[in-house]
Amino acid sequence: MTNFGWSYPAGCSGVPADDEGPCEVCGLDPFRCICPECPECSVHGDPNCYKEHGLVLTEEQRQSRQKYEANMEAEARAEAEWAEAEAAANAGNAGENPAHR
Ligand SMILES: [Zn+2]
Ligand SMILES: [Zn+2]
Repeated sequence: MTNFGWSYPAGCSGVPADDEGPCEVCGLDPFRCICPECPECSVHGDPNCYKEHGLVLTEEQRQSRQKYEANMEAEARAEAEWAEAEAAANAGNAGENPAHR
């Protein structure tokens, strides 16, 4: 049984493509990534470099990453709230029988 209340917003932030995701280190999208290049392997934004190649997070990266995580959290919460409201609306529609009153 399909419930049409579960239509996902098309073209919106659905499942991100693997290589188009935000930087794992600073949380910015790859074009705006502020991470320095790793002297060892000349990539930037690789969390491993911070563990294995001796790179150190700057305050800027840390804050940017924090902002990103807060954003994700807010987004997840908004989505959960939306889903909850949707579910409540559906339940309300189903539970409220107009003929009953
Ligand atoms: Zn980055
Ligand atoms: Zn590296």
